Amino acid sequence: MKNKINIIMLLVIAFVSTTLAQNNKVPAKGFAVFANNSKFTEYEFNRHPIGDDEIKIEILYAGICHSDVHHVRGDWGKEEYPMVPGHEIAGQVTEVGKNVTRFRIGDYAGVGCLVNSCGHCDYCKESLEQYCKEAVLTYHDHDQFHDHETTQGGYSNNIVLTENFTIKIPKNADLKKVAPLLCAGITTYSPIHYSKVKKGDKVGVAGFGGLGHMAVRYMVQMGAEVTVFDITDDKREDAKRLGAAKYVNVNNPEDLKGLDNSLGFIISTIPASYDPNMYLKMLEIDGQMAIVGLPPFNSMPVISIDKFIWQGNRKIFGSQIGGIKETQEMLDYSVANNIYPEVEIIPATTSSIENAYQNVLDGKVKFRYVIDMKTMK
Ligand code: NDP
Ligand code: ZN
Repeated sequence: MKNKINIIMLLVIAFVSTTLAQNNKVPAKGFAVFANNSKFTEYEFNRHPIGDDEIKIEILYAGICHSDVHHVRGDWGKEEYPMVPGHEIAGQVTEVGKNVTRFRIGDYAGVGCLVNSCGHCDYCKESLEQYCKEAVLTYHDHDQFHDHETTQGGYSNNIVLTENFTIKIPKNADLKKVAPLLCAGITTYSPIHYSKVKKGDKVGVAGFGGLGHMAVRYMVQMGAEVTVFDITDDKREDAKRLGAAKYVNVNNPEDLKGLDNSLGFIISTIPASYDPNMYLKMLEIDGQMAIVGLPPFNSMPVISIDKFIWQGNRKIFGSQIGGIKETQEMLDYSVANNIYPEVEIIPATTSSIENAYQNVLDGKVKFRYVIDMKTMK
């Protein structure tokens, strides 16, 4: 009899604590797509309760990355819906768990592509959390640390995550321009540093969009001589204005003359099909090419191994965003050196997000759209 009562008591306690936890869920609203390539719709959902080591951020600005466009269009395979995109997030802390030490209410805080990882694998130990097999992405993922809830991104009014994956934004930062640093910034900063680009190096940036213009900014700041590659003449003046030494319209054969064996480092941010061998030919002996642009799976660029072998002694590597430690380093460096993206701020409405997506696809964005989330009704 006594045992029975104990079991009933335990069940009641479990029921009450689950209900309490559910009641503590954080209501959120944002913009979601409900099917491959569908229109955006206003969407209300819940985020998990704020844990002891977690914070709640009121999202003030959210960047629109070409990766969001790839996801929404299903360029990289099957997706789950509803999906709230957005992994370039800047905002302000509004609540803190009892064990939080790095953040206080009112601090500026940023979130990039990751919200958690296992914490003990070789990658995590090296602060390369982006390669952890159990890393949790900011959206279109299942959060194993929170009952496998579907993660939803930054086109929304708030986010809840551990302070360990939150980036501190200095008080003097130009907040409306910070969000794109959390993806476009770190994705270019990381391979540039991995390849040890330095003053005087001759370098190339292929694809002069959100990521590409950040790569130009970082390498110009470092004193490298930058050649920019894109597919039209539309951004020739912008490249010069940002300090590039040369602009190449790859569709103009004249522009391409004399470039073979001339560059020590190239970063490709191209989001569509292209010929990597054309760029590999431009590398000097021992030159390196970093690939960060990820085209749709059905139009993946192919390296001709024969040409690559005949050319010899050139290196190519892929790179995904950057670890949390390096992301903080990048943000502090960018703010201290006044290196920001060029942004166009748009209101938080379905029509302005739709319009921005179309402009990204049509090559009409200079250089990053940022949604002003405070304007969401
Ligand atoms: P954008 O659309 O802002 O920029 C892409 C640029 O590349 C545009 O200027 C575009 O020109 C240009 N371009 C298109 N085709 C070619 C070509 N054949 N040769 C040269 N330039 C070309 O995209 P983002 O910068 O936001 O993203 C770029 C890519 O990087 C995407 O695939 C994205 O998913 C990926 N990415 C990868 C990350 C990683 O961790 N590795 C992280 C973040 C993004 P136009 O505007 O005229 O079309
Ligand atoms: Zn991105």
